[in-house]
Amino acid sequence: MTHMLDYNHQEQWSNGFGTQQSPINIETKTAVVREGTLEFSTQSKYHLQQEVDDQTTVRLPGTGNAEIFGRSFAFQQVHFHAGSEHLIDGKQFPLEIHLVHQNAIGQLVVVALLVQTGAADPAFQQIIDGFTTGKTDPADIQIDQWLPEQPVGFHYLGSLTTPPLTEGVEWLVVTNPKVTVSAAQLDWFKQQFPYDNRQPQELNGRMIEWYK
Ligand SMILES: [Zn+2]
Repeated sequence: MTHMLDYNHQEQWSNGFGTQQSPINIETKTAVVREGTLEFSTQSKYHLQQEVDDQTTVRLPGTGNAEIFGRSFAFQQVHFHAGSEHLIDGKQFPLEIHLVHQNAIGQLVVVALLVQTGAADPAFQQIIDGFTTGKTDPADIQIDQWLPEQPVGFHYLGSLTTPPLTEGVEWLVVTNPKVTVSAAQLDWFKQQFPYDNRQPQELNGRMIEWYK
């Protein structure tokens, strides 16, 4: 049986880890600037095959492959947080898209897209139109077009942002995604899921790399 996460009492989430948690407030003045762009390129289409109401967000499992900093990863699922979980210099974005990846030895990489409001997105509209409260439905949605060819942003080591809050998760926080959502699309999401963003966690001396 699923147990709905209570975002109003996050301090009560059990956390056996502690010092390398996500999300974080990224302070650009302390980030270490690197040459080039984030090393993330898709090797096959990202195809969403199911749509799940998991009570705190909409989650869409799917298939796809990517090369991330020289290693091969399989795309597993995409889900959403509104407002964003990661902040940049204290600034929150309207929406954050999490693309969860895993490799053959179980390492997790989350590619986070920081999304602004603007034009309505057709794929996000397919997700809205295909959603059934409390249900899992089949889906047939492409999302490659959200990903920039030259992704820029931040790279750091953190954790899952929902229990079990497992650490050792690598984050690519992308600031130039090729997707915006309309105010109406964002309103729809916030009506379904009024509060689904974890508060920023302590950096505890971690290095943040900035590819710009
Ligand atoms: Zn997430």
